[in-house]
Amino acid sequence: MSYRSFVGLEIHIQLATNTKVFCNCRAAFGDEPNTNICPVCTGYPGALPALNEEAMRLSYVVAQTLHCDLTPACEFERKNYFYPDLPKNYQISQFSAPLGTNGYIDLEFHKKKKRVRIRECHLEEDAGKMIHAGDESLLDYNRAGTPLLEIVTEPDLEIGEEAEHLLQEFRRLVRYLGVCDGNMEEGSLRCDANVSVNVEGAGLGTKVEIKNMNSFRFVRKALNYEIDRQQDILERGGTIVQETRLWNENRDVSESMRVKESSNDYRYFPEPDLPPFHTDDAFLASVESALVELPRDRMQRFVSQYELSEAQSEFICDERDSADFFEAAVAAGAAAGEAAVWLMGDVQKLLHRTDSTLAASALSPERLAELLRLLASGRIHGKLAKQTLEAIFTDDKDPEAIITERGWEQITDPGAIAKIVDGVLAENDAAVAQIRAGDNKPHGFLVGQVMRATSGRADPKLVQGVLAERLSLNFIPVLSFGGAISGRTSDEGMVVPGNLENLIASVQDDPTLPNNLRYTELELGQFLSEEITPRDWAALIHAIAAHIGSGDASGLVVATGTDTLAYTAGLLHWLFGDASVPIVLTASSTTGETEESVESFKEAVRIAVGGAGAAGVSVVFASQRLPALNLKFERVPGSSDGPAFRTWNAPGTSRRTVALYGNVELDPEQIATRLEDAVKQSFVAKVFPGMQASSLIALIDAGVRYFVLELYDTGTANLRESDFSLRAAIEYGHERDVVFFCTSQQEGNVDFSPYITSHELWRGGAIPMGGLTTESVYSRLLAVLLTGEAGAEQVAERMERSE
Ligand SMILES: [Zn+2]
Repeated sequence: MSYRSFVGLEIHIQLATNTKVFCNCRAAFGDEPNTNICPVCTGYPGALPALNEEAMRLSYVVAQTLHCDLTPACEFERKNYFYPDLPKNYQISQFSAPLGTNGYIDLEFHKKKKRVRIRECHLEEDAGKMIHAGDESLLDYNRAGTPLLEIVTEPDLEIGEEAEHLLQEFRRLVRYLGVCDGNMEEGSLRCDANVSVNVEGAGLGTKVEIKNMNSFRFVRKALNYEIDRQQDILERGGTIVQETRLWNENRDVSESMRVKESSNDYRYFPEPDLPPFHTDDAFLASVESALVELPRDRMQRFVSQYELSEAQSEFICDERDSADFFEAAVAAGAAAGEAAVWLMGDVQKLLHRTDSTLAASALSPERLAELLRLLASGRIHGKLAKQTLEAIFTDDKDPEAIITERGWEQITDPGAIAKIVDGVLAENDAAVAQIRAGDNKPHGFLVGQVMRATSGRADPKLVQGVLAERLSLNFIPVLSFGGAISGRTSDEGMVVPGNLENLIASVQDDPTLPNNLRYTELELGQFLSEEITPRDWAALIHAIAAHIGSGDASGLVVATGTDTLAYTAGLLHWLFGDASVPIVLTASSTTGETEESVESFKEAVRIAVGGAGAAGVSVVFASQRLPALNLKFERVPGSSDGPAFRTWNAPGTSRRTVALYGNVELDPEQIATRLEDAVKQSFVAKVFPGMQASSLIALIDAGVRYFVLELYDTGTANLRESDFSLRAAIEYGHERDVVFFCTSQQEGNVDFSPYITSHELWRGGAIPMGGLTTESVYSRLLAVLLTGEAGAEQVAERMERSE
């Protein structure tokens, strides 16, 4: 039997008014206890409440933002109950005519759009705070009477992750609107939930209320725990008791607090001291004028208007301040893409280091724009720009003033640079001779000498150019990474590993290639494609990173095998896809210097010397250039064209994310260790009829944390209650933070279509990877695990992010 869960939230937000909702006491967090109180908020007999219109206005702003029907005349009721933190023994709230009803909020979760309906928004007063210290209970009434807006959703959510996501969206929203600081730790954003589980198709079950979830994480954990608890009871044939339960964050369980009273128990009756509140035109106009562009809309606009990537846009729009800062910088003349890169990268790093915020730092939008202008015009180069940014933070001066004062202007005069280069070459005969003889090792040393001679001010591109010209050589590092292309066929007819010496020799003086090419073969291992280990990948990654870092090559060629090419190409794409030089993988279906291997190799070299236009990772097979993602190797029997690689699903249209490999300082040993760990934690499984959960559970017990599941074509698998289904494994994994990334066995997009089975996969936290192939998803997983030490949640998030 399959079950369905229903989760609704009651979100409380403390409105950021100066004074309380029915009196003039200060509304603030952290003041000396019982200093912000008066006869009204402590419920003295005869004290009369008066409505704070600002609280009403902020409430209507939220209600309108949530697309609610606004109530023209809303009323207040007394909600009667006794509790020590409620000195009046009743709470002024809204019951019969809440200020907003029938709204909604749109979410995007795991690339799925979802509309969560809002039942109502109502304004009420907060209670005081009870603090338990040893045997004593202390009361602080400072919070009593603070305006609290309660937003009640319909039970449209299904799992803890969705609720957490909704709450985060809410936090962003109220911060954008400026109506609440959204601080869950200080209690200005709080949330209770109701959870029910029932047999699929049978509607809502018995509702259980969950309280005491004081962080986003606890909301997720508490709700998932409660869903599992109820499902267990139902599976054993039991019934759910309607009750209120508290989340115990120390034990990771919920505990029964009380059997739920019905709403009649509160004996609501109209508040006799407050007249109904009527919204007039002036009030509605003031609500209208407080509406702002919402985070999600702004993100989408940034993507289309400024051509930012989704990840950039999401980062910048997370806080209204940074989105405002970005737009002000663009208005001041900054190029949008550059401004985004700097804000996400170096600016963010400096803010962290100085424990500061954009608003409090010395960096203004105008200064950022000026810095980027100086960089774009060539007055400074990238490294000088970074130095200048740091100096803005410490000196609080304009970039122009800083580079003038410190003499940081870039040297861009080719004549001046040529003179310095010639000086350095003259002093280093041995290095020059070594390079002319074909050994490029001293190249980095020479560049370093030139930079030192100019105190780092020489334009690095000019230096590279002049050096290449003076030495009249163009270096193509050829990384020999196993496979048939570097192998040979033995006398017994077996394919055995080899090196590229002969292949390189056969193109050495090819008249169709530029005549100043010098090849350096770097042998990363003599093996066949199928013999690859994580250590081989580590050696390859390190070699590529070192060449990119030293800037000594205009492009790289990687000769590799066919069997695992789709994985290696994917891995390099995710790590180096945004490199400024071409990285070309090539392979051959034949061994030795056949026409096929020579022609493919030549084409790869041609692309590698092609410069910036050819930048990024690509593949050459059978002289055809192919994208590095979503490759499938196929042998077509009887075809005159022989075996071929084909590309699935137009790669690049779905998840273009590049997990940029920025850790060049990692040594090969560290890369190898990390990759080995990544591989140990990962498993690729193709779903087949009769597949048993127990097999996957054994893998989870053995330490597998991430699965790439190749599902059936419609994006589903067997999830019935049976030994021959995946259901138990998905549940078992979900409890242990194991993540399932889903691909399809067929070409086409995995569509979590309205099958009940995919619905269950979905609830179990499985993540659809769109049109990416299993090979591309697995290599992406390795890249993500290699470049970060994050937990399951962050890994899942990085896997999904599109840039
Ligand atoms: Zn008061």
